[in-house]
Amino acid sequence: MGILSFFSDIGKGLSTMLRSLRHLLFPPSCLFCGDLLQGSERYLCARCQMALPETLHFINETNTFESLFRTTIPFGDGVSLYRFSRHGALRPVLHAFKYHDNPDLAFYMGRILGERLQSSHRFDGVELLVPVPLHPRRERRRGYNQSYELCRGIADVMGLPVSKDNLYRCRNTTSQTLLSGWDRLLAMQEAFALNDPAMFEGKHVLLVDDVVTTSATLRACCDALLPVDGITISMATLVISELSPRDNYRPKNR
Ligand SMILES: [Zn+2]
Repeated sequence: MGILSFFSDIGKGLSTMLRSLRHLLFPPSCLFCGDLLQGSERYLCARCQMALPETLHFINETNTFESLFRTTIPFGDGVSLYRFSRHGALRPVLHAFKYHDNPDLAFYMGRILGERLQSSHRFDGVELLVPVPLHPRRERRRGYNQSYELCRGIADVMGLPVSKDNLYRCRNTTSQTLLSGWDRLLAMQEAFALNDPAMFEGKHVLLVDDVVTTSATLRACCDALLPVDGITISMATLVISELSPRDNYRPKNR
C-alpha cells in the first residue's frame, strides 16, 4: 500500500466518522416543522412534503404561468410546480437553497420537478435545459446557482443535457427586487445575452428558474433567446408567487 493511499483511506474513514457523529449530535430534521426525518425522508418530513401546494399547471394548459407571458412572448409550454404561500413549507425551502449553502436541496427539488415534467409528457420535445443565470459576481458569492442545481436534478430524471454557460447575465441587477412593474422590466432590459447563439439554433430549450414572480427575469431571458433561428422556448419554475403583493416571495437578492 502506498503512503498516499494509506493517508487517503484514513481521510475517508475520518470524514465518514465525522458525518456519523454529526448525524448523532444533530439528526436531520424537517426544514418546516422541525420533526426528525425518518427513513428515506430528506429536507421535509412526508407530511410537510405532501402538504406543499401544487398548482394545476400540469393539468390545465391555460394557467396562471401561461397568462403571465402568452400575449407577449411566443413560447412552447410553461408550468410552475408549486404555489408560494408565505406561511407554507416553501418559504424555508427557498430560503435554505438560496442562502444556506445548500445546492443539494435545489438538486433534490429539481428531481421532484423533473418527475412531474416527465410524467406530464408535455415537455417530451425538450432537448436542452437552460438555467436562468446569476451574475458571475453573485454566483461566486453564493458558491452556486440554484437554478443550475434545479436543472441538474431535472436532468438526472429526464436524461437531458444542461447548458450552463451559453446564456449569461451581463448586467448585475441587485436592486431590481426593490422595484416593481414597469421599472423592474426596464431594469432587466438586456440583462442577458448568449455566448454562442448557433448552439441553440433549431433547439427546443427548457428555461428553468426557482421562482417566477413578476415574470421580468424570464422575460429578459426570452429576449436574449428569441432571436435565435428556429428556437422553441418552454419554461418551468419550481414555484410561482401569484398571491397578493403581501404574500409574494421576496428574495433579498438573486
Ligand atoms: Zn415537517
